[in-house]
Amino acid sequence: MITIKNEREIQSMKAAGRVVGKLLAYLRKQVEVGISTRELDALGEQFILDQGAIPAFKGLYGCPATILTSVNEEIVHGLPNNRKLRPGDIVSMDMGAIVEGFYADAAITVAAGELEDPIVKQLLDVTRESLYLGIAKIQPGLRIGDIGHAVQTHVERHGFSVVREYVGHGIGRQLHESPQIPNFGDAGTGPVIKAGMAFAIEPMVNIGRPDTKTLANKWTVISRDKSWSAHFEHTVVVTEDGPEILTREDA
Ligand code: MG
Repeated sequence: MITIKNEREIQSMKAAGRVVGKLLAYLRKQVEVGISTRELDALGEQFILDQGAIPAFKGLYGCPATILTSVNEEIVHGLPNNRKLRPGDIVSMDMGAIVEGFYADAAITVAAGELEDPIVKQLLDVTRESLYLGIAKIQPGLRIGDIGHAVQTHVERHGFSVVREYVGHGIGRQLHESPQIPNFGDAGTGPVIKAGMAFAIEPMVNIGRPDTKTLANKWTVISRDKSWSAHFEHTVVVTEDGPEILTREDA
């Protein structure tokens, strides 16, 4: 069942979204050559607590971190560690917070230092663009499949691939609610989108093949061919007029 949020619940989701939007902007600025992913996690956790919010990921499903940090060929669920970022590395930071019992969830991929490889730069641009093209399909009366179709079409047009095993999701009182929202598929298929629904849209895009592999730590997911990967995500509520992004960095 896909939950429909009432106005009061949407206000709480907006409050959670504002915290996560500010956190995205804050962590983007912290990424630099020499910082470790463990430091990014600690800074992010303190930021959430300073906002009076609750870190959403830590402890959920046994997750040991507040900010999941996936570097280069790591796709998602990367566990922070003492690895220091080197010039040209990219780090995907996935984060969530709980306010008034409601979740917001978002992710960005940021380069440390100057991004000189044009393919990696294009990977980041195309993945970000595909997120916004997917979000544009969040209209009452359209279907969940329209979102993934828009994402996949844009990504594959540029020669990259969409990860299949990890998908977007409904969000609200739970981090992961119905429905699953694949970043691929056929337009005009799946559940009908209605006002009051809330979704986390999160394309994960690889330069090479889409296949994934989980490391021995049971969390960090990498591309099987070790090609680099990007991840952008926003939490979005459906209004009668279309999508409203709750985790905007400039909100
Ligand atoms: Mg998510």
